[in-house]
This record gives sequence, C-alpha cells and structure tokens, in this order.
Amino acid sequence: MLIPQELAPSSLRHVITHRPVINFHLCGKCGTCANFCRKQAINHQHNGNYEVFLDNCIGCGVCATVCPNGAIEMAEVGGIASFA
Ligand code: SF4
Ligand code: SF4
Repeated sequence: MLIPQELAPSSLRHVITHRPVINFHLCGKCGTCANFCRKQAINHQHNGNYEVFLDNCIGCGVCATVCPNGAIEMAEVGGIASFA
C-alpha cells in the first residue's frame, strides 16, 4: 500500500534532495552503477546507455560514488548538473 508522504510516520519520510545525472560522454557502460543500486533504479537501455528510472531512485548517491569514470553527478533537485 502506498502512503502519501505527508501522512506517513516521520520515520518513513524521505525527502530526496539530489538526483543522479549520467553524463553519457563519460560513461564507459560498465554497469557498475546498476549493479550497486539497491533500488534497481538504473537500467541498461537497448541503445547501450544506462539510464536512471527516477520513480525508483531514492537519491542515495551510491551510483555516483562507485562509478569509476566520474560519469554520475548528484544534482540538486530543481538544479542543473554541472560536471565541474
Ligand atoms: S558506473 Fe559509470 S561508467 Fe559504469 S555504466 Fe554507470 S555511469 Fe557508466
Ligand atoms: S542515487 Fe541511489 S537509488 Fe538512485 S540510482 Fe543511484 S544508487 Fe540507485
């Protein structure tokens, strides 16, 4: 059963402040991010790219940490990834 966030007990609330953004130019298509994501939020697409399925993503940042190419940036929700 889905509970609207505003009705959930405070211990269950999770405010997502950042989202992963994949830079396809830096991505080596190794699949490490998808393997480490515990929410199965990163999927291998038919075109060979890995893409984030935001409905499943909890914004934990593990994918960005494990990416060997620095191809994932955790961008502030509502903001723009800079890949600085
Ligand atoms: S871990 Fe990094 S390089 Fe590997 S598929 Fe994911 S984004 Fe691409
Ligand atoms: S931020 Fe966490 S939940 Fe979202 S795609 Fe990356 S590892 Fe998965």
